[in-house]
Amino acid sequence: MSDKTDRAAAVMAALAAMYPDARCELDFADPFQLLVATILSAQSTDVLVNKVTPKLFALAADPAAMAALAPETLENAIRSIGLYRNKSKNIAATAAMLVRDFGGQVPRTMEELRRLPGVGRKTANVVLGVAFRIPALPVDTHVLRVARRLEFTGADTPDKVEEDLTALLPPATWIDAHHRLIWHGRRRCKARKPLCPDCGCRLFCSYGK
Ligand code: SF4
Repeated sequence: MSDKTDRAAAVMAALAAMYPDARCELDFADPFQLLVATILSAQSTDVLVNKVTPKLFALAADPAAMAALAPETLENAIRSIGLYRNKSKNIAATAAMLVRDFGGQVPRTMEELRRLPGVGRKTANVVLGVAFRIPALPVDTHVLRVARRLEFTGADTPDKVEEDLTALLPPATWIDAHHRLIWHGRRRCKARKPLCPDCGCRLFCSYGK
C-alpha cells in the first residue's frame, strides 16, 4: 500500500466512526422507485423528494403504471420539486423505455442506465450502488467538495473526482464511502462554514487546520 492509500484508509475510518449508520436518505421500496427518486433529487433535497414520492408511488408504483399516467397527473404530483416539468417528462420517458426495452426492469449496467432519459452518470451510479450493491461511487456536490478538502483529489469535475476516488479506495468500500462523504458534507464539512472543531478528520485535513 502507498502512503496515499494508507492515508485514505485512515480518513475513511475516521468518517466511519463519525457516521456508522450512513445510508441513502431517499425513501424507496425497489430499484425503480430509487431511480425515480434520484431523478427527482437533482438540484433539490432528499427531504423534499421524500415528501412527494409516497403520493407519486401510490399513483404509479412501477414503470408500466408510471408510463400510463397522464402527463398533468405526473406533473401535479411532483409540482413542489424544482424543475418539475422537465423531471416529469424524463420520468415518463424513462418509465416508457423501461417497459419497451428492458421488460419493465431497471437495468444493472452503467451503459444501459445512461440510455434512460434524465439519467446521468451520478444517477446511474446511485442505482448501481444503492439498489444493486454493485460497487459504484456517485459524486455529487458534497462528495466533490469533501474529497477536495481532504486532498483525495485536485479535480473539479465529478467524473474526474470519481476516477481519483475509485483509484484510491478498494471497490468493496465505494458505496459506504459515498454515503459517508455525503453525510459529512451535509452535517459537518458544509460548503460555507465547515464545523472543523467537531471533525474526526481534522488531523488529516490541511483545510481544517
Ligand atoms: S476538518 Fe473541516 S474542512 Fe476538514 S474535513 Fe473536517 S469539517 Fe471538512
